[in-house]
Amino acid sequence: MTALTGNGTAQALNDKLAELDLAGRLALVAGLGGRSVFTTSLGIEDQVITAAIGAERLGIDVVTLQTGRLFKETVDLIDETEDQYGITITRYHPRQDDIDAYAAQYGLNGFYESVEARHACCGVRKLKPLARALEGASFWITGLRRGQSGNRADTPFAEFDAERGLIKINPLADWDIERIKAYVADNAVPVNPMHRRGYPSIGCEPCTRAIKPGEPERAGRWWWENDEKRECGLHVPESAIPSLESSAL
Ligand code: SF4
Repeated sequence: MTALTGNGTAQALNDKLAELDLAGRLALVAGLGGRSVFTTSLGIEDQVITAAIGAERLGIDVVTLQTGRLFKETVDLIDETEDQYGITITRYHPRQDDIDAYAAQYGLNGFYESVEARHACCGVRKLKPLARALEGASFWITGLRRGQSGNRADTPFAEFDAERGLIKINPLADWDIERIKAYVADNAVPVNPMHRRGYPSIGCEPCTRAIKPGEPERAGRWWWENDEKRECGLHVPESAIPSLESSAL
């Protein structure tokens, strides 16, 4: 797979993906060989991708990061989605010794106290499980969209992730939320009932609130932090998150 893991290949793939619909984009990646992993948070975008993978029976591993702090609605949706599409969504959990070490240093809910503490929690509950989920993967498929936040405004269809040594695929990069909702309605895709209660973006329970009318889609995530710092580290280079350097990743 070495030939597939460079910036030039990612750019060529980006150009090809731009010409295809969602099913075509996913089928193209699944047909390239190597392990393809789709990480779902069970958010509405990710449900669209899961539906397309399930409908086409594509050879893509569907996984989720079961942080241990998810809303009950999200946990229930994992089961419902598996049943609807006849697929397995592999849960990756944090390790208990990492959680214990975090709690000893910061307190179980220490993430409210500082950006460092918050990134350390995401490191233990998300990034380390993500690293295990992506072991041996050549392609990492995500539900990132350009319209989700300013941080994501330049999201390409394919990009080389040098730190993880794979190509990241964002097949919904150019979809807006109205198109997502239309796909869900047309295809009876199961979605988290919390979306109807003002939660367009749903993460861990203690770090997600409903948004107010007119707020950006991700305004309810880590709302107590400044916007430019408000990512969990999954979709930014680890080297860009100083606190992660000391979080035993
Ligand atoms: S979103 Fe909150 S609870 Fe979840 S891993 Fe990050 S800091 Fe911890």
